[in-house]
Amino acid sequence: MTLSAIQSQLLTACKAAKRDPSGVTLIAVSKVQLPERVRAVLAEGHRIYGENYVQEAVAKWPDFRAEFGGIQLHMIGPLQTNKAKPAVELFDAIHTLDRPSLATKLANLAQSRGQSPEIFIQINIGAEPQKAGVLPDDADAFIASARALDLPIRGLMCIPPEGEDSRPHFAALAGMAARNGLSGLSMGMSSDFEAAIAAGATHIRVGSAIFGERRYE
Ligand SMILES: *Cc1c(COP(=O)(O)O)cnc(C)c1O
Repeated sequence: MTLSAIQSQLLTACKAAKRDPSGVTLIAVSKVQLPERVRAVLAEGHRIYGENYVQEAVAKWPDFRAEFGGIQLHMIGPLQTNKAKPAVELFDAIHTLDRPSLATKLANLAQSRGQSPEIFIQINIGAEPQKAGVLPDDADAFIASARALDLPIRGLMCIPPEGEDSRPHFAALAGMAARNGLSGLSMGMSSDFEAAIAAGATHIRVGSAIFGERRYE
């Protein structure tokens, strides 16, 4: 797969769903990819990237930013509270707000900096014991408390349980966002982004389908 193949699948999925493609942001997930691969996708003109690890992103993106203009970075991995400061300094959006202590930390940083990345709240949509995210039953209260801290809550994010049909989970997340008046829906990865678009995704996070398989050391 290549960037252009994914872009054309995105267009096809939007057409099928009768959606305007400008309402779907393609986040190219570049975690643990070789710099040459990332550079190649930058050279093709793509400017919106997702990373999972603050340390890796801080090491990699300032140089790319200096070389290529207009880069937008999304934090999509679990965020430790003690990494919140470098994260808000680097990222334009954080998709993984999932607990009160992190909300407080992000709100304090927003206060002192006078600005904040856009925030998505991660929902543990399958209520899986091992997975990060706010439990569905707690979502409405958590959203309200994050808003009360004046955080710019853009929407909700989820990673459906592996090996299950993603569609009911995408529909559940969309319903939760709608009833809370949130327009952003960060959902859909390499294997299910078309279904996510059909369910209303505004941000799809596609890694291996653009860059190839990831190799962890
Ligand atoms: C790695 C990752 C992705 C991209 O996964 P692919 O299956 O390679 O598209 C998307 N979202 C999150 C949260 C990830 O950690």
